[in-house]
Amino acid sequence: MPGRKKINIKGIVQGVGFRPFVYRLATNLSLTGFVCNTTDGVDIEIEGREENLQRFIEILQKDKPPAARIDGIKSTDLTATGEDIFSIVESKVTSGFTQISPDIATCTECISEIRDPQDRRSEFPFTNCTNCGPRYSIIIDTPYDRGRTSMSRFKMCAQCSAEFNCITDRRFHAQPDCCPVCGPSYRLFSISGREIPTDDPVSAVAELLKKGHLVAVKGIGGFHIACDAQNCDSVRRLRQRKNRPTKPLALMVRPSLVHDIVHLTDDEEEMLKSPAAPIILLRKKESRICDGVAPKNPYLGVMLPYAPVHHLILNQIPFLVMTRANIQDEPIVKDASAVRQKLKSLVSHYADHDRAIENRCDDSVGYYLPQHGFSIIRRSRGYIPVPVELPTAVKPTLGVGPYLKNTFALANGREAYLSPHIGDLDNLETLQFFDEMLEKYKRWFRIRPELIVHDLHPDYLSTKIAQGLPGTKKSVQHHVAHFVSCLGENQIKERCIGIAFDGTGYGYDGKIWGCEFFVGDIHEQKRAAHLQYLPLPGGESSIKKPYRIAVAYVYSLLKEKLTITDDAETRIIHRMIDENSNVVYTSSMGRLFDCVSALLGITKEITYEAEAAINLEYTAQDATSDYYPFTVKDEPTMVIEAKDILKAIVSDMKKQIAPAVISAKFHNTIAEFSFHIADRLRTLHGLNSACLSGGVFQNRLLLNMMINRLKRGGFNVYTHKHLPNNDGCISYGQVIAANAEELT
Ligand code: ZN
Ligand code: ZN
Ligand code: FE
Repeated sequence: MPGRKKINIKGIVQGVGFRPFVYRLATNLSLTGFVCNTTDGVDIEIEGREENLQRFIEILQKDKPPAARIDGIKSTDLTATGEDIFSIVESKVTSGFTQISPDIATCTECISEIRDPQDRRSEFPFTNCTNCGPRYSIIIDTPYDRGRTSMSRFKMCAQCSAEFNCITDRRFHAQPDCCPVCGPSYRLFSISGREIPTDDPVSAVAELLKKGHLVAVKGIGGFHIACDAQNCDSVRRLRQRKNRPTKPLALMVRPSLVHDIVHLTDDEEEMLKSPAAPIILLRKKESRICDGVAPKNPYLGVMLPYAPVHHLILNQIPFLVMTRANIQDEPIVKDASAVRQKLKSLVSHYADHDRAIENRCDDSVGYYLPQHGFSIIRRSRGYIPVPVELPTAVKPTLGVGPYLKNTFALANGREAYLSPHIGDLDNLETLQFFDEMLEKYKRWFRIRPELIVHDLHPDYLSTKIAQGLPGTKKSVQHHVAHFVSCLGENQIKERCIGIAFDGTGYGYDGKIWGCEFFVGDIHEQKRAAHLQYLPLPGGESSIKKPYRIAVAYVYSLLKEKLTITDDAETRIIHRMIDENSNVVYTSSMGRLFDCVSALLGITKEITYEAEAAINLEYTAQDATSDYYPFTVKDEPTMVIEAKDILKAIVSDMKKQIAPAVISAKFHNTIAEFSFHIADRLRTLHGLNSACLSGGVFQNRLLLNMMINRLKRGGFNVYTHKHLPNNDGCISYGQVIAANAEELT
């Protein structure tokens, strides 16, 4: 007796060759029925012998296409209908929603076709197949079908159409499939908008780059500004024009030459070559790359080519600087009109193509911490919009995220959809980007948020945005969001110690927090310890000038005068502290790093966020396990005093101890007092686990020391897995904390 089953599959199952795979599997097993995409995922009905139906379900999960991800399978029995063929039928629009695949780096088979002079896609910059190519960035609406992407305007030629409809072809139902006859094309323009006549725009770009030009190149999620990474004059010009004196620039490298410029472990190589193709921070080798790419930095941010156009350019020029095309803190530029308007003083030419980028997304960035795993710094292309699992089911909720490095999280049930990296919510373009993506996410994922969660800070623009949206409003303190985010990602329901180290977050007492210890769970959190409050002269404006922080901290704690700046400015800072005027108080860990970095003469002023702390990390070179004395004052909230630490540092400086040693001892001190506090909290509350979150943990040295110290002391240590430990995780934490609070 033949049976019939209806199978509904959720996950990343559209645009990744899933239906063709199902078709082949069903026909191999002599099953009949159909498969179709729905707004809900993929629906299958199969009919045939019972044992084959079982085999089908087994193999479906085991041998799924490389880019697919199955989050759920539901199977129900139906009555056999006597159907005699298996077919792929039209997409159905149902009430649910479907996951959207992230963009996928060009696969090896497509690369060989591009390289093959005999292939009809030889050197074709839009080559893709069911295993690779653009997805998220070209989607207009779901379900994912060519007609709902920016490929809809390109009518397939007969040959492409034949591939698209041929079950045994790698391009069977590959929605963005195209070729030089029917697909998009690149065109080269001068920045004024005049087209440069050429048969081969991509080679012409390579020629311009070889001559030292800066060129904007349209890619997958936006434009890059490209230049030859071996031409130091080009790199210098790029820095000057982008007003970016020292912040490291990303490199795109010919795959065969990666080992020439960086040290690479197997894990790192695997991440680099993964379908998401993120930028990975890798240890630099002495090499032919200009120092100006990442001055005074032991790491290089390296990515491999992930679109055919990148492979084609890198064939001619081995190392490219590929930095996001934007000005200041605005979102990445994604169309030609914006290039002409915003990049006119930056690049001489731009290469445009006629496949629209519907949804911009930046390159993702991460690094690999030995014995610990991949740690992401910016989660965008290749990762979004894959949902992140929540520890408990939530009502439809929007977490609007933080003010800086904004991402929002739109959530329902056990799934949180995080936006791509939006940026700092302080300019019109970023706000428009936020609104645009929020509208799209609401539509794609069918979520109408009833609960709107924002930061505790009453004046943040993100708070104002939240207040303008319909629904119940709730606020969550910044470091609570960090802690809860880490609990959530690790699916921890029990009580735990939370350690949040970062630069800035508005506290319950109106002061600026940033070195915070909590005890609690996702439902309630109590501040258990913090760094003592210290005065920031002139408030947050001193963040750009760490030497002012050093002058202020040393004066207020040790009553000593530093000669780090001129007398007049020193006097002004001293007076601010004496009179307690124009100072704000902070327990920030980021500012303590700034202070020490300036004190040691490493970084007096900064040109990008956390520069002083980063330089201090890179200075630490000594293998010492020594640490400075510290005092923790008890009860009711423990307070870590900075006086002894600073006093010892100043004393070491007077003894001419090298900054490499002082920095290492300073890092050790933080790990040591953190363990001391965690140990006290273990005694007081019987807790044995600690969660680490906050942007300060992008400091690899510190993160490593903290994990090791806490583990050595018998703690389970949890860190972020899929989300950044910087403010990119805040919106997710907001969603969890606000929902959990309602349940207590
Ligand atoms: Zn491919
Ligand atoms: Zn074609
Ligand atoms: Fe933060």
